[in-house]
Amino acid sequence: MFPQSRFTAVPVFLLAVVFSGCASTPPADNAAEPALAWAIALHGGAGTLGADTADDVRDGYLESLEIALTAGKELLEGGASALDTVEHVVVILEDDPRFNAGRGAVFNAAGGHELDASIMDGSTLACGAVAGVRTVRNPIRLARAVMERTRHVLLGGEGAEEFADTVGVERVDPEYFGTERRRRALERRLADKDKGTVGVVALDRHGNIAAGTSTGGLTAKMYGRIGDSPVVGAGTYADNRRCAVSGTGVGEEFIRHSVAYSVGAMMEYEGLDLAAAVDRVVDETLEPGIGGIIALDPQGRIAMRYNTPSMLRGAADSSGRFEVKIWD
Ligand code: ASP
Repeated sequence: MFPQSRFTAVPVFLLAVVFSGCASTPPADNAAEPALAWAIALHGGAGTLGADTADDVRDGYLESLEIALTAGKELLEGGASALDTVEHVVVILEDDPRFNAGRGAVFNAAGGHELDASIMDGSTLACGAVAGVRTVRNPIRLARAVMERTRHVLLGGEGAEEFADTVGVERVDPEYFGTERRRRALERRLADKDKGTVGVVALDRHGNIAAGTSTGGLTAKMYGRIGDSPVVGAGTYADNRRCAVSGTGVGEEFIRHSVAYSVGAMMEYEGLDLAAAVDRVVDETLEPGIGGIIALDPQGRIAMRYNTPSMLRGAADSSGRFEVKIWD
């Protein structure tokens, strides 16, 4: 099942040392399980797509997911870092008007766009985020610049945009973000619950994990509203000892329950494995219909769960897994 293990030649006692950081009480049968060389999961938002979704709409989403996942797979195969891969794949999704991030972002109640994003490096716990930016083409790039080129974690609004100029992160006319589909959604106000936030988690060949999330937020949100996506611990979290997580859904609930951080906390404090921790958060912490999570652990196991009718998502790893899905 894990043909490209990095640790097959390593004595069992060393494996125990390597994996002891994954959780304070790791499940016994995980301790000696070989890790995958690399793995990636992505989401394009939890939402309400139903079985009646038109074929061309469904196929369009699947094609977009596949393009992004292929790019991530190729990067990780070639030895790119998890952090670079997360940023690059989020940029692809931000540039794709099908998703509610970057181009294609939803409109706020004032008829504009305010974008949020964050990124986290699980090897150092370094993280960066931007909130409420209106002219930054790829907010995930600016989030990374905040992480690497400031002593802060989160920059908002005009200050973040001025910072973009100083670090050469591209700005665009706000018109760039708007699409006809999102305009119609604003006109219908909250009738459109297809969220379309994007997120990526990755494990690289060096054993490091990272996570990133980017969004236009919720359709018709109040001007100035900030969701969970730029809040580290709510919409995004990565820690090499435990897991990398990106969420999508009603951001207020993700903030209230520190959702992304909770997955790792349940692994550490309750000894749950990744899948059980994600199940617990999606089934017990979140009310039905709120959203979903993608997560991976340092061994390359992936968990993707949602409690909405659909979640656009994909997963690939060094065992040959490659799949994109909308429903179960
Ligand atoms: N979580 C995002 C927010 O509340 C929205 C989404 O995931 O679709 O801003």
